[in-house]
Amino acid sequence: MTTATSPRPFWLAGRAAAGASTLEVTSPWDGGTLGSVGVPSPAQTEEAVAAAAAVAGEFAATPAYVRAAALDHVWQRLTERAEEFARLISAENGKPVKWARIEVSRCISVFRWAADEARRFNGGAAQRLDADAGGAGRLALTRRFPYGPVLGIAPFNFPLNLCAHKVAPALAAGVPILLKPAPATPLSALLLGELLAGTDLPAGSFSVLPVPNDAMPALVQDPRLPVISFTGSVPVGWSIRDAVPRKRVTLELGGNGAAVVLADYSADADLDWAAQRIATFSNYQAGQSCISVQRVIADAAVYERLVPRIVAAVEALVTGDPSDDATDVGPLISEDAARRVESWVNEAVGAGAEVLTGGTREGASYRPTVLTGVPTDAKVSCEEVFGPVLSVTRAEGETAAFAAANDSTFGLQAGLFTRDLQAAFRAHRALEVGGVVVGDVPSYRADQMPYGGVKDSGVGREGVRFAMEDYTYERVMVLTGL
Ligand code: NAD
Repeated sequence: MTTATSPRPFWLAGRAAAGASTLEVTSPWDGGTLGSVGVPSPAQTEEAVAAAAAVAGEFAATPAYVRAAALDHVWQRLTERAEEFARLISAENGKPVKWARIEVSRCISVFRWAADEARRFNGGAAQRLDADAGGAGRLALTRRFPYGPVLGIAPFNFPLNLCAHKVAPALAAGVPILLKPAPATPLSALLLGELLAGTDLPAGSFSVLPVPNDAMPALVQDPRLPVISFTGSVPVGWSIRDAVPRKRVTLELGGNGAAVVLADYSADADLDWAAQRIATFSNYQAGQSCISVQRVIADAAVYERLVPRIVAAVEALVTGDPSDDATDVGPLISEDAARRVESWVNEAVGAGAEVLTGGTREGASYRPTVLTGVPTDAKVSCEEVFGPVLSVTRAEGETAAFAAANDSTFGLQAGLFTRDLQAAFRAHRALEVGGVVVGDVPSYRADQMPYGGVKDSGVGREGVRFAMEDYTYERVMVLTGL
């Protein structure tokens, strides 16, 4: 990673702008400086909001082919510069470069989907109203119109793709967006801004603003930004919703994802697959994914054969320098984050948990860890670890397994290892989550499917089309005298 000499500009109403102050970005792996970014002043932030509000009407009326072409431009340039983006994500976030490459390829898909959706969204539908006498001679037409500019707030753990999930649907729907990246990882979002700036979209349709957290409450309250799309932690997310109950607020928050392994999933090949997937996806991005596998709930019939396989698969993961192609698990986002994980594991051990592997920290890196015998009220079980720590528990039968999976304040996604189709349907009915992944871990997400949680994990759904619906509302036009 080369060190930038001058601060990177941010994007103010589509133009590069120098900040009033700067924010330094450091590598979670070695603490080295990666560069600095300009931080908008309150006046510059105001200018971006005013520009978004001013362009909203014009942008909503922009033809679909223009918006689609802009989105095509973004994914095509992203494809050309994929390795540059992957290296940048890996450097600022600390995730292994092979995972960063996957993030970039997903981001390309998000913009491709958005271009497609821009072309077909809002086709409108006619509804005859003359089934009742009062509606004789009348017809209703429905089209979707934007609520107004969106404030998109992104976390650090997917610094490119979760920004894409805010930006691409907004531009596809003709809605101006102000994107606020996480303070630890603004570089990928600002590079995305460079691609957006190469489009023909009207000035004001996008801004990328690395504003400090203490400037956020005023932005959240700003009546010119009626939609807030937030991805991040539970307390911040719900505090936003509480602060602006009348706004349209989507919250994509945390989880403590469970993978349930049922008794029928007992062939050697099945258990090998489950163990390998569980090991990989409790540790990818050092466990810093909202749908990381945090809890494994295994039927007693397979527990004894599954656990050693999981431990072996976890121990086979390559830890170390995220820029190395061979690395599976890199550091956490900061040493503070790793210390928190360490203290939670120590708390669980103090309460009777057994460490089957891992359990040690070096700087910001925490060794991939498997625990058993974890009390359900220990933080590593009932809160979101957001680190490479997995707890394995035994359940006596399917009903107990589903109850254990539901014993959580979160409800994002669950994984279910079974070959029994009826059990899959029972799980789909029983599990209190936004998505059940059958035959795999909870960590699977396709960017076009509806994605989001229930309970503390959030409200609303992302996935390009679903976000476009979130940013807009149906307005009916009744035609009379037909
Ligand atoms: P965070 O809540 O600390 O920060 C998220 C964003 O909110 C950042 O841009 C931050 O600067 C901003 N922010 C902080 N205070 C704010 C305030 N008062 N008002 C408005 N914005 C404010 O989260 P994080 O540590 O960056 O990300 C990790 C969390 O994100 C985890 O809980 C994880 O589960 C969650 N997450 C959820 C999903 C999902 O789709 N459900 C995806 C990824 C991450």
